[in-house]
Amino acid sequence: MTPDRFETWLYPTPSGLYCAPGDFFIDPGRVVGRAIISHGHSDHARPGHDAVLATPETLAVMRMRLGDGAGYSQQAVGYGETLRIGDADVTLRPAGHILGSAQVVIEYAGQRAVVSGDYKRRADPTCAPFELVTCDLFITEATFGLPVFRHEPDAREIGRLLDSVAAFRERTHLVGVYSLGKCQRLIALLRGAGYDKPIWLHGAMQGACDLYQSLGVALGPLELVSEARESLAGEIVLCPPSALKDRWSRRLADPVTAFASGWMRVRGRARQYGVELPLVISDHVDWPELVATIAETNAGEIWVTHGREDAVVHQIGLMGRKGRALALVGYEEDVE
Ligand SMILES: [Zn+2]
Repeated sequence: MTPDRFETWLYPTPSGLYCAPGDFFIDPGRVVGRAIISHGHSDHARPGHDAVLATPETLAVMRMRLGDGAGYSQQAVGYGETLRIGDADVTLRPAGHILGSAQVVIEYAGQRAVVSGDYKRRADPTCAPFELVTCDLFITEATFGLPVFRHEPDAREIGRLLDSVAAFRERTHLVGVYSLGKCQRLIALLRGAGYDKPIWLHGAMQGACDLYQSLGVALGPLELVSEARESLAGEIVLCPPSALKDRWSRRLADPVTAFASGWMRVRGRARQYGVELPLVISDHVDWPELVATIAETNAGEIWVTHGREDAVVHQIGLMGRKGRALALVGYEEDVE
């Protein structure tokens, strides 16, 4: 094994991670000629690239979010389909993060690198499950890359929300969720737990919910808060985290404020948002899942893109593998 062998063909640049034999970037932070996009969140799918390659669902998300900025030319590639790009072979595999999310598998000169993008291992009724790909180089995120981060079972957190709704029938339950991915997953988890009443939405959630439903993800009856005649006592309302403390919520009936996020493990974060009912529901791996995934890929070398790089690189060393912090800029820890 020659040291630094991967760096000759796959490396970080100011625009983002670049694959030289394929002449493309993965989730670039700046406008580039050719981009492969792992998923539709705004810190990974930026506007203005010339050519964009992604799953059909990610392209649909990008068109909804970015309009004409979604890429001058767009190429949809389904999971498992291998394309030759320049001298590299590229295959997208499910990442289990949000609808359409993909790991980018790149094969070149007998080596296989996997760029995970954001990912999780738990079942999510709104997207295809993470598919483990063994590889020589695994490039991982580390949003929750500290041993303190352990996400609760989703069913337990949904149960806590439904118990609170049953206990406080005279109050509205206002739940902060990221509008793309977490919102639809929370709705699907509620439906799976037997909650079949209409779920009320802040207007910012409507576009992504409509898109998910048009792509075949059933979400049940949804209503807009702006069209409610009453104060929604006893109902569940979903809004962006930024709207939790807005004037907007004053029309609701003495709201119980909740927030569904992996960050709700941290008390200070819950306080910062004035959250009474923190729900630890995340679309990223927690620490045990991150460590297990690194082991299962069998990769001898692991690069860490963003999040808690130091702790993860230390852990990789303890596992007898080579770790490196890429320190890529532009990824936001809060987008989850
Ligand atoms: Zn994401």
